[in-house]
Amino acid sequence: MNYQSTRSSNIKTDPSHAVLQGLAPDGGLYVLPDLASLNFDWRGTLKLDYYGMAANIVSALLYDLSREEALGLVRSAYEHRFSSHDLTPLRPVGDDGVLELFHGPTSAFKDMALCLLPRLMKAAGEKCGETEDVLILTATSGDTGKAAMEGFRDVPGVRIIVFYPKSGVSPVQEVQMLSQQGGNVKVCAVEGNFDDAQTGVKQIFSQLSGSLRLSSANSINIGRLVPQVVYYFSAYASMLRLGRIGLGDKLDFVVPTGNFGDILAGYIAGELGLPVGRLVCASNVNNVLTDFFRTGCYDRRRPFHRSLSPSMDILVSSNLERLLFYLSGDCRLVSSLMNQLDKNSGYQLPQELMKKAQQRFYASWCDDASTVETIASVWREHHYLMDTHTAVAWNVAQQYKAANPGHDPVVILSTASPYKFPGAVMEALKLEHTGDEFALMDRIEQATGVPMPENLRGLRQRPRLHFDCVSKSGMKDYVMEKAAEKVWKK
Ligand SMILES: *Cc1c(COP(=O)(O)O)cnc(C)c1O
Repeated sequence: MNYQSTRSSNIKTDPSHAVLQGLAPDGGLYVLPDLASLNFDWRGTLKLDYYGMAANIVSALLYDLSREEALGLVRSAYEHRFSSHDLTPLRPVGDDGVLELFHGPTSAFKDMALCLLPRLMKAAGEKCGETEDVLILTATSGDTGKAAMEGFRDVPGVRIIVFYPKSGVSPVQEVQMLSQQGGNVKVCAVEGNFDDAQTGVKQIFSQLSGSLRLSSANSINIGRLVPQVVYYFSAYASMLRLGRIGLGDKLDFVVPTGNFGDILAGYIAGELGLPVGRLVCASNVNNVLTDFFRTGCYDRRRPFHRSLSPSMDILVSSNLERLLFYLSGDCRLVSSLMNQLDKNSGYQLPQELMKKAQQRFYASWCDDASTVETIASVWREHHYLMDTHTAVAWNVAQQYKAANPGHDPVVILSTASPYKFPGAVMEALKLEHTGDEFALMDRIEQATGVPMPENLRGLRQRPRLHFDCVSKSGMKDYVMEKAAEKVWKK
């Protein structure tokens, strides 16, 4: 079996080339078509620790790595970099489990993938005999950029440029990025929103990939998705240990969704055999996915809102393309739908596919006011402090349970530390709102006693090292200029 493009079964490649290229040459995304035929030993995998699970899953999906190679990469990616011994601890909160994915070096769930991706790329480069340096281009809605730079910093043979929407990230996220060290990293603000930055990066790929060796750290890269499959297994194992399920029982997962990468990893876990029930897609006011799963109509022609959960402020969810492929198995259909999205800003899914999608997925959303109210009520009732993205998922989880009385036990994915979004947390706790975001973080720690992650301490004083800013149309020139520089000066 080979990887292939979602848009053409003639474009085939092996896992290493798929990881190195990121995007397929026809603009499609790389997928492994028949996951069930891997006959993955999901039961045996559940008995292992996180590293063992990851080694099994990585070597099954990226099958040109041996299990030993995968285990080595996984260990070097995660060991000693997480603040929790259990990399992704599951906390029982009320009736549900909350899967904490934010104990990595940047306190966001993207660390799970981005600690490992550079190592997967390096291994893939060696397998393919690549000698030329690779330039990673990434658009970020806030968390990816920091996590990617931290993952790639000073990895030999790789340079990375991160574009972020100038006023679309939180002050904490911005300082986290602008203070990033490493001789091979560049951060550049774009005058526009996340979709502008992402569209810009996609265009640069199609225009410059003939002349530069480019790759992507966005979740369009299959090397980003594979590490995310692992924590669905670890959540299942935790729920087993807690006695909340028996082996073989289904679990429903509620996922705060933006680019649809995280939730798609849950779908892949299910295709590998893990008993995944419903996948619940939680959105904020940018609820294009809620409408899609309810009506089958994807329509991006709608106002773009800035919300309190900025990592989910997205109107075009790239990885949905992979789901369309898995549901239909029909490259021609996927290609046609993606063309319609490009030309007419939307498409309508055929009826029978819609039914299939609704069997596996449920979708809903909540607005900013409900997000804040959710943080407040969960703190009041359970003494558990959550960030805005997790709160959206919690809120949607309660909607889902009310609408589906026969639901399976529920796990909610928690994607960021509450300290990354202190303004909203402060408002929820009705603490006095004084000073900047950094002062708020200290106040929250005093008021709740929930410890602040070490990597976020002292952020205010950290020196800014990056100052670049371009217009949407200036992104390509910026990349050409930086690619031409042999060494990046500080
Ligand atoms: C990126 C991100 C999400 C959305 O994940 P996708 O894979 O893009 O759907 C949710 N929450 C946080 C905190 C994030 O950083």
